[in-house]
Amino acid sequence: MPRVDLYDTTLRDGTQQQGIAPTVADKLRIAGVLDSLNVGYIEGGWPGSNPKDTEFFRRAAAGELDLKRAILTAFGMTRRPKGDVATDPTLGALLEAGTQAVCLVGKAWDLHVREALGASLEEGLRMVADSVAFLRGEGKRVFFDAEHFFDGYDADAAFALDVVRAAAESGAECVVLCDTNGGALPERIHRTVSEVVAAVPTTQVGIHAHNDTDCAVANSLAAVQAGATHVQGTANGIGERCGNANLMSLIPNLQLKLDLPVVTEDDLIHITHVAHEVAEVLNLTTNPHAPYVGHAAFAHKAGLHVSALAKRTDTYQHVDPALVGNDLRLLVSELAGRATVVLKSAEFGVDITDEQALRILQRVKELEHVGYTFEAADASFELLMRSETGQRPQRFRLESFRTIVERREDGVMVAEATVKIWIGEERLIGTGEGNGPVDALDHAFRAAIGQRLPALGSLHLEDYKVRILDPGSGTGATTRVLVRSTDGEREWETVGVSPNVIEASWFALSDAYDYALLDESHG
Ligand SMILES: [Zn+2]
Repeated sequence: MPRVDLYDTTLRDGTQQQGIAPTVADKLRIAGVLDSLNVGYIEGGWPGSNPKDTEFFRRAAAGELDLKRAILTAFGMTRRPKGDVATDPTLGALLEAGTQAVCLVGKAWDLHVREALGASLEEGLRMVADSVAFLRGEGKRVFFDAEHFFDGYDADAAFALDVVRAAAESGAECVVLCDTNGGALPERIHRTVSEVVAAVPTTQVGIHAHNDTDCAVANSLAAVQAGATHVQGTANGIGERCGNANLMSLIPNLQLKLDLPVVTEDDLIHITHVAHEVAEVLNLTTNPHAPYVGHAAFAHKAGLHVSALAKRTDTYQHVDPALVGNDLRLLVSELAGRATVVLKSAEFGVDITDEQALRILQRVKELEHVGYTFEAADASFELLMRSETGQRPQRFRLESFRTIVERREDGVMVAEATVKIWIGEERLIGTGEGNGPVDALDHAFRAAIGQRLPALGSLHLEDYKVRILDPGSGTGATTRVLVRSTDGEREWETVGVSPNVIEASWFALSDAYDYALLDESHG
């Protein structure tokens, strides 16, 4: 069975995505995270093209990056037309980056050689051959990215093949066929890759797919099935325009569907975490519906699915979520039956009887009728389950709160809140200010409790969403608030519903506090 190498270009092609601008420290951290997934090669950037990438390679070489398994590569372009390799600034910057391996991009489409470079096809071939040979002579391992290969192959197959042969014969260990415009479909990729594999039988052939037809993963798989043994992609599929091939889908597909062990079983378990951590560092929200690694990738809502899953977990899921470090999630909704409640209680570690399960289900239906939804608020659901079964400790009790919002003469909005709370027999009063009434309420609550509930010290509200449920009734509408909280390690979601947005927010907030205090109550 051929080995398939993974080549990550998150830090180079991935950062071409609009709105992504990682710092050098971010890039160093992401490289470390990707290393834990055991991708074979990590492309750090294009040294010399911008100060940030140059600094990245300098700091990596100075010991700030300690890759345990992956090989760091630097990306660059073949020499200039009619230029000299020895004095070419791009090739010089590649040498200076100090990596063991480099990836050189060169033009494989005759149109681009003539029009973009203004060079003859012969010179186009010499640029590739000279540059690869030069870097090989300097002791580098060289990968060659054949830009626009598929379009070039359709326009002038002989020239496109000459380009990859020139790279291979000059010492490139892998020729990577790039669908630079991302317009190809799998059948075309398969056919072309098969022909190239036959034409350069002694050199490794790779694939670099873009997602402009939403087929980057499918195209990469088609290439592998046609004989490619090197696959380039990015974490979460980030990249210019519609992105690059998504390694978070490609890796499990290669491993679990095509039986090609690209990483170890233990590595694969990290993939969900890696997907989320990379997104976090890049300040991106993760797509909950992303295959394999999304929060909802193994989430089930329909009651029929859930009762079948209770019997056998393989009935409604294509792979075991544990293989990719994800979890089966059962969504609680009006559709759900008693089986969901029973499974959820096991997930939460709350003991319930059959009779309690039915009562909880009844309660969920009543609450959903007035606008609650527990699908995105597991923590509130766990608290509800604990309330109904007498397993919810009450750590604090609200007496009252008041908020004032003022638009000052200078146009600045200020909000103030006062909260009166009981902890046991002690009555505590706190005031707070904030940029809005909910923020002020949170500050007032924290001021009131002081140091008495230390578990809340690390609690941080990450996200706050408001939805108006029956817009038909205008300002009299019901409001649902969803709050996502974190203590730096865990994340949890809570929900509150009320005709008043501030009261709905308080319900969601107080559930968030209660949930944070649960662990403490259990010791
Ligand atoms: Zn690309």
